[in-house]
Amino acid sequence: MGIARDKIGVRTPMRCPICDRQLDNVLIRDLGGVTADLDWQLHAGECPDHGWFQTEVISRPPREIFPVTRPFGPTRRLVIDGKELFSFPTVWNDLPQEAQRQKVDPFDPKYWRVRGVGGG
Ligand SMILES: [Zn+2]
Repeated sequence: MGIARDKIGVRTPMRCPICDRQLDNVLIRDLGGVTADLDWQLHAGECPDHGWFQTEVISRPPREIFPVTRPFGPTRRLVIDGKELFSFPTVWNDLPQEAQRQKVDPFDPKYWRVRGVGGG
């Protein structure tokens, strides 16, 4: 049943949170909910070097990007420079609450960037 709702061969503003590469094999699952005319979606995509990543769009840009074992699968643990990571907070997550209450395009890639990506 879920299969029919998955969009394949689509594009996502999500990039690899480790190397900032555009993701391959992108899948978007329609979660069936709607807030202010915006569908709720799960986005998944694969980096050839760092594996699968996933995030949720619930009418707002995503707060975190998660490494997963497979599209729409469980979260996996990543170890980078000896540190365990289970998620990557986006710059949207870092914005003050007042800014997060403003109406924005949830698919604007500038909000999907991960804190410190690209050597920060
Ligand atoms: Zn990568």
